[in-house]
Amino acid sequence: MNTQDKALLDQVTLDEPWALIEEFAGFAREHPDDVNRGMDLVTDRLKAHGVPVEVHKPSLYLSIPGKARVETGGRTFRAKPPAYSVHAGDGLSGQLAYMPANQADDIDTIFDKKLADPEAAEKSIRGNIVISEGFASPGMISEFQKLGAIGVIGINPGVDIHWGICTEIWGIPGLDDLDRKPTVPAVAVNKPDGDALIAIAKVGGSVTLYTDMEEGWFDSKLPVVDIPGNDGSGEYVLLHGHLDSWDVGVGDNAVGDATMLEVARVLWANRSALKRGVRICWWPGHSTGRYAGSTWFADHFALDLEENCVAQVNCDSPGCRWATEFTQLSVMSEADAFLADIVSEVANKTTAGERPHRAGDYSFNNIGISSYLMLSSTMTEADREEKGYYAVGGCGGNIAWHTENDTLEIADKDSLIRDIKIYLLAVFRNANATILPFDWRATTAEFLDTIANYQKKAGDRFDLAPSRDAANSLQAALDGFYGDIAADSISAARANSIIKELARILVPINFTEHPRFTHDPALTVKALPTIALASELDSVAADKLGFAQTQLVRGQNRLISALNQARRMVDSAKS
Ligand SMILES: [Zn+2]
Repeated sequence: MNTQDKALLDQVTLDEPWALIEEFAGFAREHPDDVNRGMDLVTDRLKAHGVPVEVHKPSLYLSIPGKARVETGGRTFRAKPPAYSVHAGDGLSGQLAYMPANQADDIDTIFDKKLADPEAAEKSIRGNIVISEGFASPGMISEFQKLGAIGVIGINPGVDIHWGICTEIWGIPGLDDLDRKPTVPAVAVNKPDGDALIAIAKVGGSVTLYTDMEEGWFDSKLPVVDIPGNDGSGEYVLLHGHLDSWDVGVGDNAVGDATMLEVARVLWANRSALKRGVRICWWPGHSTGRYAGSTWFADHFALDLEENCVAQVNCDSPGCRWATEFTQLSVMSEADAFLADIVSEVANKTTAGERPHRAGDYSFNNIGISSYLMLSSTMTEADREEKGYYAVGGCGGNIAWHTENDTLEIADKDSLIRDIKIYLLAVFRNANATILPFDWRATTAEFLDTIANYQKKAGDRFDLAPSRDAANSLQAALDGFYGDIAADSISAARANSIIKELARILVPINFTEHPRFTHDPALTVKALPTIALASELDSVAADKLGFAQTQLVRGQNRLISALNQARRMVDSAKS
């Protein structure tokens, strides 16, 4: 680490961040009034350090869960409704149908659909209240709803009940999205109660679900710190994370809010050393609006983001108890080596990067922005097993995630100061890089792997050779391009413009199916989604194969067009 970087990191203290965490540990930040109070506290602390902050005031469409319960035969079971459940204040009664599903065993499958054999299941689902293992996720709710369920009960894996959200619509619904809103009440129960309810389902019993929901438009505050760079380009790195939480949400996400506060303070104090700018945002509406705050920002500043944003960095659940490893780092391939260096230098740890999930305020994929980090440090697998923990989506692996147990003890001072330094150094180096630290050769290598993998699964039913050839041509062009950069035979300005613009093409083609400036649903998006069907031909019935192949011809055209466009852009560097 050079002396400038070291001097920067030495300025990090826990004074401001820990004080904010202690404040946040004292009040729930679910309802917009409480979230706005949290925003005021962050804003006040920023102002106290002379950091200018602009507070936007969007009206956000949110669904705030209240109480819920399940009643049957004189017994009452404790339950929590996910955001976007339908309100059932007077109760919804129906026969209970149990649909077994595999419990997600790691973070990769938490957000996936759960049902093994949907067609066989429909008979027992239609007209009934369905109970199944899972986190009452959008995939689960939409699948059961499609098959005719009138209500859904998700069984959480342990004794706690986790809050969540069950809409698959990303952010505030557009008019045309409204018919994809969940149309049934949903609740989550814990494992022991779930087992008791399964027993009731098995003897043909009925239940009544009660859910108390408040849904509508809410005045929200959204503070943005804009630290201008000195190169006159107007370009910036976007660092962001959610401030609204479930209950007092210390590990998810008071620690992230505190991290961004300290990064803002230190970067503002060192603003004369910044080449590009840094923008830092605290989001409302993450938990109750399916990323409504970051989506609002992505919509309202879309063209500015397209023009000027060189990277987006998400800050969710850093600095938690027992979180010593960096083995579940969300990172796009082009940023993998850059992030690995940062973690190695700050924490002396190796990283295992993974494809970013369709979650966690990654609201910028359809614009096309290189991205890294979502969650940061996590506990070891062995630690998790020893504690009997199941996979959760935050809090460094602590199962207090999204429960009333996510209190002050979940934050850890040593982890926090380390993770603040990781975020600070990543954003600072990214902003100051002479050449943007994104290696599109790594992304193209990932594409080639994906294509080879899909081809293997498709066998002779579909030929992906044209995709492979186009990716190889892009790779060859990139080899020349990065060679020219290393040899200084291309200007930094030209190189950076191309590296930035490649994201506008290659991020959408790898992470989205829907057009730019819209938002894909909050469901898993497979790599190179327009040709992903090639990997699923095994499960396509013989009489439908022709339709699948037709769809793949179109999807392959879209991919190759994007790869060719990227190659022409890279080739243009020479002219
Ligand atoms: Zn979170």
